[in-house]
Amino acid sequence: MSRYTGPSCKKCRKLDCKLFLKGTKCYTNCVMDKLAAATKRGGKVRKAKVSEYGIRLQEKQKAKLQSGMSEIPFHNLFNAAAKAEGQTGENFLKKLETRLDNVVRRLGFAVSLKAARQLVLHGYVTVNGKAVNVPSYQLRIGDKVTLDKALAENAMVKQGLTEAEKRNQRPSFLEYDSEKMTGKLLRWPDRAEMSYPVNEQLIVEYYSK
Ligand code: SF4
Repeated sequence: MSRYTGPSCKKCRKLDCKLFLKGTKCYTNCVMDKLAAATKRGGKVRKAKVSEYGIRLQEKQKAKLQSGMSEIPFHNLFNAAAKAEGQTGENFLKKLETRLDNVVRRLGFAVSLKAARQLVLHGYVTVNGKAVNVPSYQLRIGDKVTLDKALAENAMVKQGLTEAEKRNQRPSFLEYDSEKMTGKLLRWPDRAEMSYPVNEQLIVEYYSK
C-alpha cells in the first residue's frame, strides 16, 4: 500500500475523525465540524456497522494517514516500537510524534505536516546545525531543530508561526526560541501531549493479529 495522495477531507469523513491534514482550514472551515454541528441540531448520520477487525484497521489507518507514511515504513516503525522497552502503543506514538517533520509542524514552522515535509525535503531545516532533509528523521532528546532564517518572511511560515501562537499549539516538551527560529526536544512527550487522536491499543491489536 502506498502513501495516500487523494482528497484529504474525504479520508477524514470516511474514518469519522479529524486528521488535521489541511492546515488552517482544519480549524476554520472543516467539513467534520459542520457535520458535527448539523448532528447536534438533530441531523441524522448513517453509520455502517464495522467489524472488530474493521475497527482496528480504521484506527491504524487514521495514524498512518495523519503521519503521511506508506504502509511498509509505518509497519517498520511499529516493529521498532514493539522492540523498545515500555508500552508498544505509546512508544509507537512517541516515535511518530518526534519525527522531524512532525516537530517542524508542532513548532509552528508549517501549518500542516505536508508543508513541514516540504520544508525538510527542500533543505530548510537543520538538526544540531547539520542539514537533514529526511522527514522521517527520528529526533533524540536534546536535539535542536532550526529553520533557515531566509524563510523568516515567507508567507506560509509566518502563517504557521501566527497560528501556533494563536492556538497555543507548541507543546511543553519542545522549547522554542523565536529569535533563533529553533526548537529543542526537551523530553519525550506524554501521551496527553501527543497530536494523534487514535486509540493506540487498537493499533497494537491490529498488528498482533
Ligand atoms: Fe479536511 Fe482538515 Fe477537516 Fe480533515 S480535519 S476534514 S483534512 S479540513
